Amino acid sequence: MAQLYYKYGTMNSGKTIEILKVAHNYEEQGKPVVIMTSALDTRDGFGVVSSRIGMRREAIPISSEMDIFTFIAQMDTKPYCVLIDECQFLSKQNVYDLARVVDHLNVPVMAFGLKNDFQNELFEGSKYLLLLADKIDEIKTICQYCSKKATMVLRTENGKPVYEGAQIQIGGNETYIPVCRKHYFHPPSQQKT
Ligand SMILES: [Zn+2]
Repeated sequence: MAQLYYKYGTMNSGKTIEILKVAHNYEEQGKPVVIMTSALDTRDGFGVVSSRIGMRREAIPISSEMDIFTFIAQMDTKPYCVLIDECQFLSKQNVYDLARVVDHLNVPVMAFGLKNDFQNELFEGSKYLLLLADKIDEIKTICQYCSKKATMVLRTENGKPVYEGAQIQIGGNETYIPVCRKHYFHPPSQQKT
């Protein structure tokens, strides 16, 4: 039975590397996969999954209105797995589509992304994945300032923490830092950005 997986982690927790690894494992056995990413994140170019260690692959961009179910259903070759990056940016409809891909096409879907935004609220995609996923896993990483687990995302602008603003701000001069709860509320003053 196929399942809907939601694998969340903070920034720099290796989510994208995990996607590329899973894709590689399938493909090595001659099993094609589909890699998709949010059309919202164009930092590395439209429809690209790329990790901080320099690995990258093309991906199918998902807009909030895209009918993912029909897209997968009409593919010439049924994929063995659908891998999604930046799943926090998916719409409610996108996540419901993914559930239908699992239930009606019997194709496993693994969605990777953040859980909470920098104001410590759920993204839309995260919320519905938490509600609909069969399996939920945390990809762990440690706080930038101590050795506790990072569970939150601190936004800084010019080295100063920011707790208000638009949820999605891509391509500005802000930096996102994985932090524990204590250091989310009380980050040590930054030496430099
Ligand atoms: Zn900490």
